[in-house]
Amino acid sequence: MIILGLGTNLGDREANLRHAIECLNTIGTITKQSSIIETEAVGFVSDNKFLNMVVAIETNLSPIELLDATQKIEKQLGRKQKSVNGIYHDRLIDIDIIDYNGLILNTERLTLPHPKAKERNFVIIPVNEILNS
Ligand code: AMP
Repeated sequence: MIILGLGTNLGDREANLRHAIECLNTIGTITKQSSIIETEAVGFVSDNKFLNMVVAIETNLSPIELLDATQKIEKQLGRKQKSVNGIYHDRLIDIDIIDYNGLILNTERLTLPHPKAKERNFVIIPVNEILNS
């Protein structure tokens, strides 16, 4: 299974998630969607809470093609700043590749499974939900 994590803490957050899902449906087929949960920012201080969810997607894209595609969608949806060296910012939309069919990969651009996923409740809880559904 290929699992993507979505997060947003700016603007119309529900619309941001909806638009991200519409865009993701153009690069593959979303087969499962978790519930949306509201969480405090992790790793930086912000007054704006996040909405988080995960989706399972079927796609013919390779892991790096999928990263290119999700980063393009982040840009299309108005995201300006990337986090660099662990410095995080408020964001309209963040799309992480949580797991790609269990593949283990360590390259400069892409680490799989996502290295922070297992320490983040906002990933673990929705992932468990779709794995058990
Ligand atoms: P972000 O948290 O979206 O600002 O991503 C920061 C950087 O993490 C991106 O430029 C990616 O190249 C890199 N990255 C490494 N592994 C992953 C992954 N599994 N999913 C998404 N981005 C990743």
